[in-house]
Amino acid sequence: MVEANQRSAYSRPMSEPTKSEKGESAVEVAADCPRCQKPMPLCICDSVTPIESRISLLILQHPQEQDRALGTARLTAQHFEQAVVKVGLSWPSLSKALGRPVPDPSRWAVLYLGSAKVADLDTSSDVVAINRKGELEDHQRGILNDIEGIVLLDGTWSQAKALWWRNPWMLKCQRVILNPKHPSRYGALRREPRRDGLSTIEAAGMLIAALERRPQIAAVLNASFERMLTRFREVQHTMPELAPKPKGRPKRDFRRRKRG
Ligand SMILES: [Zn+2]
Repeated sequence: MVEANQRSAYSRPMSEPTKSEKGESAVEVAADCPRCQKPMPLCICDSVTPIESRISLLILQHPQEQDRALGTARLTAQHFEQAVVKVGLSWPSLSKALGRPVPDPSRWAVLYLGSAKVADLDTSSDVVAINRKGELEDHQRGILNDIEGIVLLDGTWSQAKALWWRNPWMLKCQRVILNPKHPSRYGALRREPRRDGLSTIEAAGMLIAALERRPQIAAVLNASFERMLTRFREVQHTMPELAPKPKGRPKRDFRRRKRG
């Protein structure tokens, strides 16, 4: 289930007349895919096969995360039957955000790096549960085995931070961070990568694959992401208005763990 409320600011119904603005004519005339909300030339939805997964997925998207060309929240959600995408800044509870009762929020995990530094933690695990101080939780295996749903914060680092602080119910959930061994496949395409370096779709794949011990889930999501990026690069040549180059220099803030 993907809910499209509050998208009116930047998603146009296909029937609405389009304005012709200088330099944006292709952006204006290209219809949006109702599933991924990308302009149709950038859409790869037809190639997505949903995965059966035990873990539920909720993606909270900051309203200013408007990168329709390179965003991955809705593409990620299409891989899972029960995934929910919500756009907004705050919700009164996990149940309200998700749209169904959650008996035990402590069996949900929010992926939020914040100021935690995985390199400072003594771990080589892909997924790490941390406490409010950003330290390793004592019972990693027990916490991670009990997780039944995850919350991803979709946006830039500062947008994710805003979502974290505006939704205090997240403190009732577990908090997890990722320990990626490789930087994002976005490469230089994205101006302001997430601080943990990964796109939402890569993060979802890595997290769910680790929690379910099914590496194939990460492989499927990464393959979809590769197809999305390949399509983007093709469109950059044929319809550059739809696939703008990033402005300015990409921030290189992926902090790679030093390995001795
Ligand atoms: Zn689509």
